[in-house]
Amino acid sequence: MEVELKAAKAAGVGCIVSASTGLSGPLLLPYLRKLSEGTGMHLINATAYYTKQNYPKELATQSEDEIADGLVQTAMAGQMGAFGEFGVANGEAEMDPLEKKVFRAAGKAHLRTGLPIFTHNNYSTGSEVRPEMALYQLDQLESVGVHPGSVALGHLCCHDDPKVDVAKRLAKRGAFVAFDRVTRQQQWVSDQHRLTMILAFLEAGYIDNLLISSDYIGRINTGVGEVNGYPGPLHARDGGPGYARPLKLFVPLMKKAGIKEKAIRRITQDNPRRFLSFIPKQA
Ligand SMILES: [Zn+2]
Repeated sequence: MEVELKAAKAAGVGCIVSASTGLSGPLLLPYLRKLSEGTGMHLINATAYYTKQNYPKELATQSEDEIADGLVQTAMAGQMGAFGEFGVANGEAEMDPLEKKVFRAAGKAHLRTGLPIFTHNNYSTGSEVRPEMALYQLDQLESVGVHPGSVALGHLCCHDDPKVDVAKRLAKRGAFVAFDRVTRQQQWVSDQHRLTMILAFLEAGYIDNLLISSDYIGRINTGVGEVNGYPGPLHARDGGPGYARPLKLFVPLMKKAGIKEKAIRRITQDNPRRFLSFIPKQA
């Protein structure tokens, strides 16, 4: 990991949000601290409950407030800087009632801690999945009082939506829209098509609501969601782009599509900075 993080830093990555699920966060803290000190990479500890298949059993019987209590305690113990990914199961049309409960609990935990929330959408995992899924997620969070400016809706780049209707509706409400699988999962939506959607999104005036990332999670998913032979080696230690995938592989495509350096800086630096900044609260 030190080799990977040093290479990412050299390629211009300044900070990585380390998402884990199942509230293992406090256990990871000493490891992340050691890595950060050894590499100079800023690492933000984050946690969430992923999807209903991955939930621990007790979530079914716990109340929203009890789940929120657990999240807040974990956030404090793990010195978290974000909550995520909260997700929905593959293929389902709408959010499951249990997932709705967990989202509302996440919203309540956000209100008590200030930590921003990022989510996982199930776009392209089945024909039943509604285009509005990300809007449903935001509905749940807003229903308990979360301001959309503290929310990033994930995997919108896997929703084939040439007019970026859903992304624009999210941005209009003030939320961040994450094109966070660029260079990967292109069997669903190609990078070229994603660029077309990004241009339409920027054209609509929502540059301050766009986040990009690659959903690259190291060796666990080697080969999953990769285009055959592209981009060659995956990991930095093998000569691949590693955690710098968005900067090394996708930003050049953005530039080629005519997106100016200044705009790219806003998208890759100012937006994540604004999304991740919060005033800590005494939970
Ligand atoms: Zn995800």
